[in-house]
Amino acid sequence: MSVPPGTVQDLDTAGRRRMRIPPVLMYHSICASEHPDPHRIRVAPDRLDRHLRLLRRLGLRGVSLAELLEAERRGAADGLVGLTFDDGYADFVEHAMPVLARHGVTATLYVVAGLLGGQNAWDDGPRLGLLDADGVRSVAAAGHEVGSHTMTHADLRGLDAGILRHEVGESRRVLEDVLQAEVPGFCYPWGRFDAAAADAARAAGYDHACVTGDFFPGDRFTLPRAYVAPGDSAPQLLAKLARFRWRMRGAETTPAR
Ligand SMILES: [Zn+2]
Repeated sequence: MSVPPGTVQDLDTAGRRRMRIPPVLMYHSICASEHPDPHRIRVAPDRLDRHLRLLRRLGLRGVSLAELLEAERRGAADGLVGLTFDDGYADFVEHAMPVLARHGVTATLYVVAGLLGGQNAWDDGPRLGLLDADGVRSVAAAGHEVGSHTMTHADLRGLDAGILRHEVGESRRVLEDVLQAEVPGFCYPWGRFDAAAADAARAAGYDHACVTGDFFPGDRFTLPRAYVAPGDSAPQLLAKLARFRWRMRGAETTPAR
């Protein structure tokens, strides 16, 4: 992929991209595994618990993406793993937060700001409830980061400029109003983005944005993440962490363009 115009590049003195973010994991719904899950977005609470136990055994600490990037800025991100949960499902409060609290870790929840208290209407799978404004506030009050996942979970690629601005900018405004706090993080629905979407996230005042697949090394607005599948065992998660580190190592040594 070529670097989109206007992309922020973090370069060291040798001209190499210097962003060395540790692995960032991407979860969605946390719920008992017997429910139908055609899109493989539901991880059982006890499996999340096993994943966090593995991180602890490895001497790693789970943190929100904002905390991870702040640590990276200070050169203190070694030993951290970013934990992110997409879509703002209501089960985050019921099932994920107790597990996260038990392990003393924080996470980022990406919320669809125009659908608070609604359902995942963008998906053709089973309908799942989304947190309302009070739920979103309780997530922040528990020490987790709340980020934006647009207004309607729209695919941002090729969108009309006005609609794109609304999806990206208005969602930040809505969440800042709900939380009475700044919202620095953005996440592209389905991880899909183009140069206009990344520019819109920058223009809306976000500090960073994350994706799921391809990313631009060193670009705060296409931060990569590793998808966690419902059935991922500890060794499979370990392999995903290793693969993430390998991808980032490759990114560090890519010559600047
Ligand atoms: Zn999503």
